[in-house]
Amino acid sequence: MTDAATDLLAVAGVSAPPELFADVVFDRPFDHAYTYAVPEPLRDAVGVGKRVEAPFGRGDKATIGYCIRVGDQPPARAVKPLARVLDDEALLDDHLLKLTRWMADYYLCGWGQVLHAVVPAGVRENAGTRAVTFVEAVPAGELPDPLPTVTAKQKQILVYLRDMGEPVELRRLLKATNSGTSPVAGLAEKGLVRKRRERIESTESKVLSAESESDAASALSTQHSALVLNADQQAAHDTISEAIAAGGFKAFLLHGVTGSGKTEVYLRAIEQVVAAGKEAIVLVPEISLTPQTLARFRGRGAEVVVLHSNLTDAERGGYWRKLAAGMAQVVVGARSAVFAPTRKLGLIVIDEEHETSFKQESTPRYHARDVAVMRARLADVPILLGSATPSLESWHNAERGAYTKLTLPHRVESRPLPPVRLIDLRREPKQPGQHFAIGPTLEDGMRTALKAGGQVLLLLNRRGYSTHVHCPACGHVAQCQHCDLALTFHRHKSSLACHYCGWETAPLTKCPACHQSAIKYQGLGTEKLQAEIEQKFPGRVVQRMDSDTMQKPGAHQRVLDAFRDGLVHILLGTQMIAKGLDFPNVTLVGVVNADVGLHLPDFRAAERTFQLLAQVAGRAGRGEKGGTVMVQTFTPEHPCIVQAAGHDYTGFASAELAHRREHLYPPYQRLARLIVRSEKQDAAGAFADTLAGAFREAVARAERASGQVRVLGPAECPVFKLNDFYRFHFQLQSANSGHLHAVLREVLSVAKPPHGVEFQVDVDPVGMS
Ligand code: ADP
Ligand code: ZN
Repeated sequence: MTDAATDLLAVAGVSAPPELFADVVFDRPFDHAYTYAVPEPLRDAVGVGKRVEAPFGRGDKATIGYCIRVGDQPPARAVKPLARVLDDEALLDDHLLKLTRWMADYYLCGWGQVLHAVVPAGVRENAGTRAVTFVEAVPAGELPDPLPTVTAKQKQILVYLRDMGEPVELRRLLKATNSGTSPVAGLAEKGLVRKRRERIESTESKVLSAESESDAASALSTQHSALVLNADQQAAHDTISEAIAAGGFKAFLLHGVTGSGKTEVYLRAIEQVVAAGKEAIVLVPEISLTPQTLARFRGRGAEVVVLHSNLTDAERGGYWRKLAAGMAQVVVGARSAVFAPTRKLGLIVIDEEHETSFKQESTPRYHARDVAVMRARLADVPILLGSATPSLESWHNAERGAYTKLTLPHRVESRPLPPVRLIDLRREPKQPGQHFAIGPTLEDGMRTALKAGGQVLLLLNRRGYSTHVHCPACGHVAQCQHCDLALTFHRHKSSLACHYCGWETAPLTKCPACHQSAIKYQGLGTEKLQAEIEQKFPGRVVQRMDSDTMQKPGAHQRVLDAFRDGLVHILLGTQMIAKGLDFPNVTLVGVVNADVGLHLPDFRAAERTFQLLAQVAGRAGRGEKGGTVMVQTFTPEHPCIVQAAGHDYTGFASAELAHRREHLYPPYQRLARLIVRSEKQDAAGAFADTLAGAFREAVARAERASGQVRVLGPAECPVFKLNDFYRFHFQLQSANSGHLHAVLREVLSVAKPPHGVEFQVDVDPVGMS
């Protein structure tokens, strides 16, 4: 405001409104906000939770950021003005702003980075909406006096508008009255009609059509709602119900064996929340977003929105706006649904809470389960975590009383858990010169099950044809050109492929190293398993489900439908087939090699193996026919395999927790993993040393943290070279998350990698490769 203007206002007895300033964060790794002056024309538009455009960085480039505070305290230094405000309404409410702020602090990244990741692109770009002009007749009381004269065409338009009695889209008005734009413009000038521009959904029909899949399922839903809870379900429900009625934060861990009816417990809780006029968020692993699962959440009197990864930006944007407008009561989705912009959150449910897919492996590297618990805390509502094989983190929380444990120890309708038979591969009879994936015992079991009209599910957690391509003379192993990893032969594509970066090359015949010998193709993947089974079971329909065969959208569903309809006799696949499926006619589950994954350099290898075996075993015997499980293994004495065979989660958890405690691993210690990478090996190694050194010094300096934070490493990552980057890592360990974060913040705020070197921080890492 100019001095002259201020004087004028003073003369008029009006004091100038205080100057306004806006704090803005950008999609950059900085953890601080930048202050801008709000120019006069933007005063009304600016607001917390809206996007703004402001000059930023070198050359004051116009950059989009999020406004996170507006105030009238002038900053110490002169500041630049905001250029634009992009949103009419705040994209995030107070809870989501607090939640994202917490994430930036906890996962050590920029608040702007978190906000950028949380708000879907379709919302930022207004995808799925279009600007539309509406025209309405000016109400009688506001008409100009005297009334201006109108042309015949204009009169026709006015009559039409008055008949409609509501604003009409301009396009439609012109069509209906067979008119051009100028008569309407004339009416507006004369003060007889008003024009208004609005953004409307252009994807409405698409968004709604997603619901049609529920039609077939609504019959299912009614059947479900008629279920009578068994005593265990009822007891769990009563406890949860009380917490929902009382309100306030409370975390529950629902530990229910496979087939114990956990979903029914979720549904009752959700119904109660919806009946109270509130909203529920349900997180499920991506893989379980099947129509069968969704059908169970739909048709109970609530509008359900489903967020899966195949949505277009426009659809995602449409759903976001629908939720933000309070037009849906339940949102079911994978990881990112934890940020759903519900306005009256009443409950969060996380199914299969142990699933690693809840962890995001790019910035912000958050764990949706942990974020969900924090969101429930901030919103002061209950949260329900469910699993047959809870993560040891959650189990530990339940044991120490932070979570309330609820147990469903039996399957529904008194069905038994299936007996599990361990088959020692070292003792299976072999035919000389022949390597079969399926030993005689498992083969017999399959024949018996199929003959009796049952279906067979086979797990092999390794895709491809040959997983070990090597030269028997010199030992050369075919490796990826960009990664430190062995290549897998895929017969169908006739190529050698890297399972990390996707690099492919033609299959080798002669050894490129010694030129002496022919290359051998050994090691077993799902593709070879399929060939073996087709050969052993001619006339049976075999389907394979792994990420190679499931690339097309809908492929997953088509195979599962065919299997459910009995059109497929044997379904084999990777861990994809182990999860959540409820097929009553599966009478045999076979595990081809239980040891895959058991010896990985990851402290969670045993936990993963137990979970995978227990989950896949849980697919057997879910119907009246019952069922069995056969597990082939070279280490039938390994505790986690024995415990999985005995359906003994509690035994597994207590043994594994004792081991974790002794070796200072989570959940007893917090971990942060730092990864330093560069295309130049020396540069990566040197900076890893520097950074680890800086952490050691910081730990030694901070007396209160001293001895409480340990620095382990640096060392080469288990996968040393990945996508042409050489990678070193080290870990910080502490029993105290506060100390750990204090040290991290201190060092990272000044850490500057040299040109060509990058580092990443992974708080509570899940993957260790
Ligand atoms: P979980 O998720 O614990 O593995 P589900 O919730 O999928 O188990 O339930 C397994 C099956 O049991 C489903 O088909 C479900 O409809 C059925 N079911 C659940 N509760 C009951 C009940 N109280 N009585 C009869 N059947 C039930
Ligand atoms: Zn590679």
